[in-house]
Amino acid sequence: MFPPQQIFQQVQRDTVLRALPRLLLLSRNFSSLMSTSYRHTMDDNGSTRPGSAGVTLAELPKSHVFTEKLPPDPNTPTPQSADSKPRPKPGLVKNAAFTWIKPEETPDYELLAVSPAAFDSIGLKRGQEKEEEFGKLVSGNKIYEEHYSWAQCYGGYQFGHWAGQLGDGRAISLFESTNPSTGVRYEWQLKGAGTTPYSRFADGKAVLRSSIREFIVSEALHALNIPTTRALSLTLLPRKKAQRETIESCAIVTRFAQSWLRVGTFDLPYSRNDRVLTRKLADYTIEEVYGGVENLVAPREEEPDGEPNRYELLYREVVRRNARTVAYWQAYGFMNGVLNTDNTSILGLSLDFGPFSFMDNFDPSFTPNHDDESLRYSYRNQPTIIWWNMVRLGESLAELFGLGTAVDSPEYLTSGLQPSQVTPLTKRAEAIIDRAGLEYKSTFITTYQTLMSRRLGFQSPLESDMENFFTTALDLMEKLGLDFNHFFRRLADLPIKDMEGEDARVMAAEHFFNANSAVNMPGLGTGRDRIEEKEKAKKEIAEWLGKWRERLADEDGGLDDERRRREMKKVNPKFLPKNWVLDELINRVQRNGERDILHKILDMSLRPFEDHWGPESEWNEEDRLCGDVPPQDVGMQCSCSS
Ligand code: AMP
Ligand code: MG
Repeated sequence: MFPPQQIFQQVQRDTVLRALPRLLLLSRNFSSLMSTSYRHTMDDNGSTRPGSAGVTLAELPKSHVFTEKLPPDPNTPTPQSADSKPRPKPGLVKNAAFTWIKPEETPDYELLAVSPAAFDSIGLKRGQEKEEEFGKLVSGNKIYEEHYSWAQCYGGYQFGHWAGQLGDGRAISLFESTNPSTGVRYEWQLKGAGTTPYSRFADGKAVLRSSIREFIVSEALHALNIPTTRALSLTLLPRKKAQRETIESCAIVTRFAQSWLRVGTFDLPYSRNDRVLTRKLADYTIEEVYGGVENLVAPREEEPDGEPNRYELLYREVVRRNARTVAYWQAYGFMNGVLNTDNTSILGLSLDFGPFSFMDNFDPSFTPNHDDESLRYSYRNQPTIIWWNMVRLGESLAELFGLGTAVDSPEYLTSGLQPSQVTPLTKRAEAIIDRAGLEYKSTFITTYQTLMSRRLGFQSPLESDMENFFTTALDLMEKLGLDFNHFFRRLADLPIKDMEGEDARVMAAEHFFNANSAVNMPGLGTGRDRIEEKEKAKKEIAEWLGKWRERLADEDGGLDDERRRREMKKVNPKFLPKNWVLDELINRVQRNGERDILHKILDMSLRPFEDHWGPESEWNEEDRLCGDVPPQDVGMQCSCSS
C-alpha cells in the first residue's frame, strides 16, 4: 500500500491557494472573474410553515443512521459495553467515527429558552418544551433506549498546524429526527454534556456565557438565510460550575444540523493512512448527508479528465457550499473567529461558535478573536482560509477522486494502490483541486455579487457594480469608520426624494454617521479640523449617493422607490446580535437573573428585518439595541475560552 501522504510529496500543497488573486482576501474587485454562473441551490431552510402544527416529541420519527452505518470506537463496540464501564478517560480512538457515550446526568436544570423557529424546522409541536421529557432530554438527563448517544471522532488543523485527534470533547449526539412534513433529518446534539474520550485536558462543560452566544447566533444566522447549524434550546445547570477566567455557571445548548461532519472528520483518517475509514466516511457523506450521488451536481460543461467520479462530485459540492457560505459571511460582515478545519462543515454550515462577531465599523483587518494575533481569521482572510481548509479536504479525498473510475476496480479494492498509479493519480488529483479552486472562486463571487446587489437595492446586477458600488462603498466605510450593517439599513431607510440635489445628499450623508461621531473617522483631529473633515466626508458620501441614485434610476422599469425600500429592508437587518448586545444580555441573565431579555433578543434575532418587535412602549429600547455601538464597545473581541 502506498501511504496517501506521499501522493502530495509531488504536489505543492498550497498551489491553488497561492494562485488565488490577492483581492480574494478583500472580497472586492472581482468583476473580471465573474464568468461562471451556478445553479444557486440554496439550502432548503428546512422549515415547516411558522407555527404549523408539528408533532409531539414522542411522535417525532427518530433514528441513528450515523451510528448504524459508521464504525464505533473499538474500546466500546456496543452501547452495552459503554454502559457497563466507567466514563472513559481521554485517549486516542482509531479506526472509528464515534464513541458510544452518555451525557452526564445533572438533576438540577432550568430551561431558559427555546427557539420557536427551531421547533418549526424540526417539525416539533410548539409547547412541547413544557413536557418533562423535553426538559430531561435537553439537560442530558434522558436518552432513548433504542437510540444510544455518541460523540464524534475527528481531527483538525488549528491555526494552520496539524493538531491530531480532537473530536467532540463536550458535545454528545442524542439521535436523529426527521421532520414528517419536510422529510429533513437532523442530528440532535447537546453541547456541554460532559466528558468524552475526546475531551483531552478539558472538562467537558460549556459555560452559560458562551452558550447564550451560540444559542442566539445560530438562530440569528438562520434568520439571515446564512447556512448554519441550529439551536433548539438553552438550559442552565445552576449547580454545575466551570473554571474559566473566573468560576462560571454551566449550560447546555441543544443544537441540531443535517450533519455535524467536518473537514477535520476526514483529516484524521487521512493523517493515519486509514483508507478504509476515509472511504466509508466519504460514502456515508454522499449517501446519507447529500442523499445520493444524484444530488451532487457537476456544473462544468467540459471535464478535462473524463467523467468525474462520485468522490470528485462530493468534493466539488463541499467546495461550492463553503464558497457560498463564506460569501454570505462577507456580505453580512460575519466572522466565525476560529476557522480551523474542525470548525469547517462538510455541508458548508456556519459551525462551532466561539469568539464570533458581526462587523461594527468596517475594518477588513478586524479579527473577533482576541488570541488571533496573526489575524489569520480576520474578516478579510475568511475566503482564503476556507479555501485553505478545502485544500486540506482535497488532500484527504485525493486518492479517491484521483483514481477516477479505477476507484471501484476489483484490483484496487483487493490490492490497493499500485506504484505505477501514483504519478497519474497525483496529476489528476492536483488538476481536480486546481479546478475546484476556480469553482470556489466563481461560486464565491457570484454569491457575493448577488447578495451585495440585493443589499444595495439593485434588481438586476451588473458586472460593473462590483467596482463602481461595492468597492467604493466599502472603501468609504473603511475610511470613515462607518458601521457596516447600519450602512445598508440606513440606505434602505432613505427615501430617494430626500436625495435630489447635491445639498440634499450632503444632508442625507449625516444619516450614516453614528450619533456619537467620536467613533467615526478614526485619526481625525479635534475642534475645527474635525468639523471640516466631517464636511469633507459628508461630501464624499453624497457623491456616492448621487451615483447610487442614478444607478437605481437606470434599473429596468425605472425606479419604484417604495418597492426598492421594501425589498432592501427584506435583506438588510435592523437588528444583529452584536458583541455589545450579547455582552449586555449575558450580564443581565447571569448577574441580574433576568429572563425576559433573552426572549426579547431571541425574537429580534429571529426576525431581524422588522422595524419593531414589541408594543410601542418597547420601541425605544429596541432602537437602542439596534442602534449605534457604544463607543467603548466598538470592535469588542472575545477570547477562545468557553
Ligand atoms: P472548538 O474550539 O470549540 O472548536 O473546540 C476544539 C476542540 O476542543 C474540540 O475537540 C472540542 O470538543 C474541544 N473542547 C473545547 N472546549 C472543551 C471543553 N470544555 N471540554 C472538552 N473539550 C473541549
Ligand atoms: Mg470545534
